Amino acid sequence: METRETEDVKTEKKSIISRLTNSYDLSDKTKYMIISLSLALIHTFFLILFIIGGVQPLVIYNVFVVAFYIFMGLVWARQEKLTYIFVALLIEVMFHAVFATLLSGWAPGFMIYTIVLIPVCFYMAYTLEGINKSLEIALFASIGISVIYIAVLVITRHVAPVRNMNSVIDEIFFYINNVIALIFSTVFSMLYIIEIKIKQSSLMGENVELEEQANYDKLTHLLNRNSMDKFLSDTIEYSERENKDFCILMADIDDFKQVNDTYGHDCGDEVLKKIAAIISNDVRQGDLVFRWGGEEMLVLIKADMKAAKNVAHRICNHVATSITRHKDIDIRVTITIGVAAYIKGMSAEELIKQADVKLYYGKNHGKDQVVA
Ligand code: GH3
Ligand code: MG
Ligand code: MG
Repeated sequence: METRETEDVKTEKKSIISRLTNSYDLSDKTKYMIISLSLALIHTFFLILFIIGGVQPLVIYNVFVVAFYIFMGLVWARQEKLTYIFVALLIEVMFHAVFATLLSGWAPGFMIYTIVLIPVCFYMAYTLEGINKSLEIALFASIGISVIYIAVLVITRHVAPVRNMNSVIDEIFFYINNVIALIFSTVFSMLYIIEIKIKQSSLMGENVELEEQANYDKLTHLLNRNSMDKFLSDTIEYSERENKDFCILMADIDDFKQVNDTYGHDCGDEVLKKIAAIISNDVRQGDLVFRWGGEEMLVLIKADMKAAKNVAHRICNHVATSITRHKDIDIRVTITIGVAAYIKGMSAEELIKQADVKLYYGKNHGKDQVVA
């Protein structure tokens, strides 16, 4: 039987990224809270080193910045003012890097943060609803960052740092800043890929759903009549080319109107689903089951008449002995099946017509039977 092809989505390769993607469940609010509070922590660390290094202006600046990041993490992130955080973070990181470099030179390595800011910008622009996923904003910010970076390069080649820090502090800053920058660029690049993967897999899910809506019947999950034309003409073509037998079964539930009239339409639906499941189970992999009309189903069997008749008898017996339970009532129905074999040169319409004629012969001769 043709099963729905959600397999692709389910059996996505279990790479590290996809495992992360599957377990990644951070809301934007939490994400920005973590980012803000990590920056508060990093600046607290800077603050301590600047106190030890005796760089007064940066001590004062960092006191404010730590307070500001805590405020961002606890207030703005909660209020989902995420675009504010994005802009504030951009300006602050830039300003701090430039300020610290003009004051203490390149040795402590503060300018490296401006480079890390570029992928972070793209990540945030891509994920932030507030700025409408505008990559132009990220590009514009990146150009701005680059211009400032070059300007600082030029200025510091001509103007000496205001004051040099103790060389040990310089060195500690140098290593720590490089390590933090590496961690940040790795984490943000990975987050970027994870977000893209999540988006991709949700799109894939939507595609599967759309395909399903187009080709499958909602109630019975059988292939619908729309999709039948193509399958039938493909099978005819294949049969002609490869000289292979195939047959169709036209099955119609007996006295189904009575089921609806006696037990209600919902109950009728339950019966229909049950019969669809029985037929699907009774055919081989590769055979196709369609909901042809209201309570009529068409089965495409890739075998000769003898085998198709056997399948039809099996279905007929299973339906007759099965019970559908609905609201504590057991409902039994029977089914009549017409079987037609494809003969070279036949059209799809002629084949269906033949099965239909046999089905109605069965309906007029006692129902609950196979006519071949
Ligand atoms: P026969 O043995 O001659 O096939 O009699 P019948 O009552 O099955 O045939 P008829 O064509 O008179 O009635 C078919 C009924 O199937 C009528 C219609 O309301 C019902 N039906 C069609 N589609 C659905 C459906 O999706 N759900 C339910 N509950 N009933 C449906
Ligand atoms: Mg019927
Ligand atoms: Mg009918």
